Amino acid sequence: MEHAFAQICGGKDPTSPFRLHNVYAELGTTFASMVVTFPTVWAHLIGQLLYYMGENNIVFGSDSPWYGGPQWQIEALWRSQIPEDIRDRWDYPELDEDAKRKILGLNSARLYGLKGNESGNCHGWQNDRPPIASTVESFRLMLADGRIVRCSRTENAELFAAALGGYGLFGIILDADLRVIPNARYRIVHRLVQSSEYLDALDQAIRSGPVGLAYGRLNVTREHFLERAMLTTFVRTSDALAAEPIVEPGPWAATAERLIFRGSQGSEYGKGLRWTLETSLSDWLFSGSTHRNQVLQGRVELYQNRDPSRTDVLHEYFVPRESLEEFLRRARSIVPAHGADLMNVTLRDVRRDPDTLLTYAAGDVMALVLFFSQARTAEAELAMQALTRDLIDASLGVGGRYYLPYRLHATREQFERAYPKHRELFALKRAVDPSEVFQNGLYRTYRPRRRAPGRAGKEGVRGPLPAPVLAGPDRRGRHRAVVQRRGAADPVQATGLRRTAHVPIAERPEALVQHGVLRQPREGGGFPQAAAQAVIGGATSRPTPASTLALPHPRPR
Ligand SMILES: Cc1cc2nc3c(=O)[nH]c(=O)nc-3n(C[C@H](O)[C@H](O)[C@H](O)COP(=O)(O)OP(=O)(O)OC[C@H]3O[C@@H](n4cnc5c(N)ncnc54)[C@H](O)[C@@H]3O)c2cc1C
Repeated sequence: MEHAFAQICGGKDPTSPFRLHNVYAELGTTFASMVVTFPTVWAHLIGQLLYYMGENNIVFGSDSPWYGGPQWQIEALWRSQIPEDIRDRWDYPELDEDAKRKILGLNSARLYGLKGNESGNCHGWQNDRPPIASTVESFRLMLADGRIVRCSRTENAELFAAALGGYGLFGIILDADLRVIPNARYRIVHRLVQSSEYLDALDQAIRSGPVGLAYGRLNVTREHFLERAMLTTFVRTSDALAAEPIVEPGPWAATAERLIFRGSQGSEYGKGLRWTLETSLSDWLFSGSTHRNQVLQGRVELYQNRDPSRTDVLHEYFVPRESLEEFLRRARSIVPAHGADLMNVTLRDVRRDPDTLLTYAAGDVMALVLFFSQARTAEAELAMQALTRDLIDASLGVGGRYYLPYRLHATREQFERAYPKHRELFALKRAVDPSEVFQNGLYRTYRPRRRAPGRAGKEGVRGPLPAPVLAGPDRRGRHRAVVQRRGAADPVQATGLRRTAHVPIAERPEALVQHGVLRQPREGGGFPQAAAQAVIGGATSRPTPASTLALPHPRPR
């Protein structure tokens, strides 16, 4: 099957002029179910994909809802090779490191691009600059009705401002023209200061040399909680910059870095040790010369939490530069009062963002990125919610805002205060996507409240469909997802009623609940009456596209 697919899409051999360059093979279940059990079949399969489609047109997938965390698959692919005799006999290309890198991530990175970053309007260590929206010249947006429009500061400017930092609510960004800057060579300079002197130190550094990137780290030990800071600046040098590879840290360096960081979790000693090591060794370990691409090459596995009983939680606050110390003064009492385990705070310089409707930088601000470790319990979750609300209040109290990509712990009132243009945003949303095709948790939490059904008029009828609900197992042990459907040609739409349909799902439905794809049934297993009837009565109507989108494809049997 895969062979035929590869031949159709790739042409009859690697030189075929009939290749379909925009068709990709995704490994997923094919790989997971073969690599251990039928490694020779796998060798032929990947060999054929490489031969016909090429290493640029294969992407990794893990089908994790079925097979659990993808780490073992990543490692298996990384180790996998096509035996030489098979390669020679069938003329397959080698599955070498370059090909594996492309399959595991680079091809997807190229395909998916930076759209999530634009939709979240992210920011980073770039000092003296607004968030990423400022670098976007234009993009093409696919709207809910399928139309594709170009947006820029002069063309569909309203949509441009709403979709950048709009979390995907206005359509799908298909591609974008960005202004980029060349790689540069930097000299790294560290400075230890009191937090109250941080801004002066940063401004002075900027005045005394061309600073390309800058960030600060705050002390999180009990003794000097948020009182001391280490400022790191990357100063451009005139040294020639050859095309340089990104250097991966050696295994010992990566292990040490990880141990030092994760060792500070829940440990006052670990936090003190980390601060001492990083502040005293930084000049020795991380000074000298580097280049921009190297600095911006973050490696998530260095910090990743591997303790299943805990999770990491990020918060970000944006406060006017002159209010940084006042915000820190408030945070110094709020965080300990909630008993939270704050592992890291990074400071960034973010300039006014005039481009986006949901801007978090209405003026020049300092961004504070707070990294917490949290137990995976209901109590810890509630405590985190209370802490977040107090910190948001502290930020709002000094004229600041908070960042939206993370937990939805802010109250509606806090959201509306932090993002005063929310009305314009939701009005535009209603105009361009009246059926609410594009939704997410943020939208469902903070969109204007709808009136109760019955008095709702059209809006009640058009409300969004709830997430699919897990049903089953039935007498034969099968699980189903109950999806609610509504269609333009559906006569029940006129009455505001919704029909339900059910789709079979494979084993381990609890994994889908864990991943938020399905909702748990209500306490006591009670489903909405209509849904239960649909399951019992075996309604067979096909789910709407929206509901099928929410479900992963079933595992082949
Ligand atoms: C560990 C961690 C560290 C982070 N550090 C930073 C940081 O330093 N600075 C910072 O600014 N942010 C940071 N963030 C938040 C970050 O901005 C977002 O998580 C990130 O930009 C999302 O990018 P993504 O490619 O993962 O997109 P996703 O998470 O996939 O999507 C993000 C949003 O974009 C939308 N979207 C995705 N693709 C498209 C598309 N084609 N068209 C329209 N909308 C689309 C999605 O619907 C979603 O609302 C961090 C997040 C994490 C988890």
